[in-house]
Amino acid sequence: MKLHNTLTGKLEEIKPEKGKKLNLFVCGPTVYDHSHIGHARTYTFFDTLVKYLKYEGLKPFFLVNVTDIDDKMIARANQTGIPIKEIVDLHLKSFLEDMKALNVKFAKYAKATDFIPQIINQVNALLDKGYAYETPSGIYFDITKSKDYGKLSKQPLNELKVHRIEPDPTKRGIADFSLWKRMKKGEPFWDSPWGKGRPGWHIEDTAIAMQFFGEQYDLHGGGIDLIFPHHEAEIAQAEAITGKKPYVKHWIHVAFLIIDGRKMSKSLGNVITIKKALQEYSPEVLKIIFLQTHYKKELNYTKKVVGTAKASYERLRTLNERISEMEENKKSRKYDKGLKIILGKEKKKFLDALNDDFDSPKALTILFTLIKRINGLIEKNKLGRKNATEIGKFLGEINSFLGIIPKKKKVKLTKEIRDLISEREKARQNKDFDRADNLREKLLEKGILLEDTPKGPKARAA
Ligand code: AMP
Repeated sequence: MKLHNTLTGKLEEIKPEKGKKLNLFVCGPTVYDHSHIGHARTYTFFDTLVKYLKYEGLKPFFLVNVTDIDDKMIARANQTGIPIKEIVDLHLKSFLEDMKALNVKFAKYAKATDFIPQIINQVNALLDKGYAYETPSGIYFDITKSKDYGKLSKQPLNELKVHRIEPDPTKRGIADFSLWKRMKKGEPFWDSPWGKGRPGWHIEDTAIAMQFFGEQYDLHGGGIDLIFPHHEAEIAQAEAITGKKPYVKHWIHVAFLIIDGRKMSKSLGNVITIKKALQEYSPEVLKIIFLQTHYKKELNYTKKVVGTAKASYERLRTLNERISEMEENKKSRKYDKGLKIILGKEKKKFLDALNDDFDSPKALTILFTLIKRINGLIEKNKLGRKNATEIGKFLGEINSFLGIIPKKKKVKLTKEIRDLISEREKARQNKDFDRADNLREKLLEKGILLEDTPKGPKARAA
């Protein structure tokens, strides 16, 4: 599989050293608020990628850090009067619940404050090697010492000042970044050789990643906003400490999700949390929303985009049900030999699209065109039980990494339900539509959705 590498600007093959696992580090959340669907886009993308690489026979290891101390968190604690530990515990729990709901699976997540000794060792190494310096406010990385600083974000050193800077008069250079912050009154702290303080943001990632993966590793990911300064700083720190390049072979960045053309923000009041989104529709629909747009393109979340995803989900759900019914029909003897060949060809096209920089919109188009074709064959009564098994196998395979096809829910037709269904059918035949609608609602409350088909009403799990 080939993916775009931000570092080289090229499409490059993802391949671990022979027989080894493929180490992937993704920047995790700063846990001071509930996670939103922008976060979901980034973590779902990496989770799907990991599952796909496993499907392709590789052994990815998906490590995520969690930032549990930083300026925003301290500000939140000061505004609300809630202790930092409580803020962290609540929002980390909430994040993990969201990931579970989306079936996003990390091999490991690591909290920054559990790695203070490793962070201190790295800061010490940078001081020893002359890359870092100490001021009254803390320890900083001198970016002029790192000759290729700017190589990831493709900016010449003298243009860096257009980006976010830390306005600290004690720094040598305006774009030097913080490695260790000296404690200010009332702030949480850890002891260090330089007195009480806390880590800078960038060093937590290199400390955690090197603890698990060593001095160099395969893949590093995150949202596009992290390219500069965060990931640039990580490279500078790690390569200064080890003297080995590249620190990470392949850098992968996911573009932002915006809402109705605007950035999601508290001040605009347009933040959609993962929990809120999942009250409106299923995790499968949210995943389809993400897959509809290439991961490197900005995703504009609109009602229309949600509507398209819901319709796609319905097509998948209906096909899935149709094929289970066909599989249950033991009398079926029909068999279309050509279908297996079609499925094989389309599967290849589908996988080729994913292997080409994870082109999920193209893969979905291939999938839904195929579904249309299959539905046509079913409607013409050309397929039988064995064909249904072939289709089920194909869908199961792609679903093992995409996670967009709902699990089949079994409907339990108790006597009460059967009575309600026949009562409703009578009401319908007597053109008592109010009563028929009421009974339909009653069934829905009991988790049963009725569909009227030419063969009569059909019950399925709501
Ligand atoms: P944060 O908690 O803001 O540090 O973000 C955690 C991860 O989510 C980072 O990789 C961010 O780049 C990513 N992220 C934050 N906001 C969005 C968004 N609107 N769309 C996509 N990814 C995002």
